[in-house]
Amino acid sequence: MVEHWIGLTHLPATGREFSFEDQGLWRELWKEFHFDFEAMAPMLSTLFIVPQADGFLIHGSIKGAVKASCHRCLEDANVELDHTFDTFEAHEDVEALEGEESHLRATDAGWELNVAGLLWEEFLLAMPEKILCADTCLGLCPHCGKNRNLEQCACCNLDTQSPLARALQGVKIKTN
Ligand SMILES: [Zn+2]
Ligand SMILES: [Zn+2]
Repeated sequence: MVEHWIGLTHLPATGREFSFEDQGLWRELWKEFHFDFEAMAPMLSTLFIVPQADGFLIHGSIKGAVKASCHRCLEDANVELDHTFDTFEAHEDVEALEGEESHLRATDAGWELNVAGLLWEEFLLAMPEKILCADTCLGLCPHCGKNRNLEQCACCNLDTQSPLARALQGVKIKTN
């Protein structure tokens, strides 16, 4: 997997902020995990890292905007990201059994953090479970596959419904 290690050896006891503006990192990550995403606004991340006796306290943020496919109509959807998180990377997790994900490693020069691994984990948490171009997206017609945001097809019975029924149908879709 894509890795980007930073040294954590000379951190002041009060902590230090790192910021990451390398857009190439995100392009590599999306490619590796087969996400058909594109940055619509620069992806900016910060990590404020405070050393502790047994690990590192991390307060981070990821901001930006991503172009992805709407889960209902498959057209472009713009997802704004403004994610903050708090996490703790423990020294002992490095020794943990396989399957326990640690973003730390110990080198001769001291502790290092894999920023790519940590940011990717948080990016996945920040993305909405259901990506929509709009809350009101009508999606594709299940019968003929036409995009119902753009046209009403003959097989869609929405035509014959009152505006209220149509609105209620929209509400029903929304709570799915
Ligand atoms: Zn849509
Ligand atoms: Zn149809």
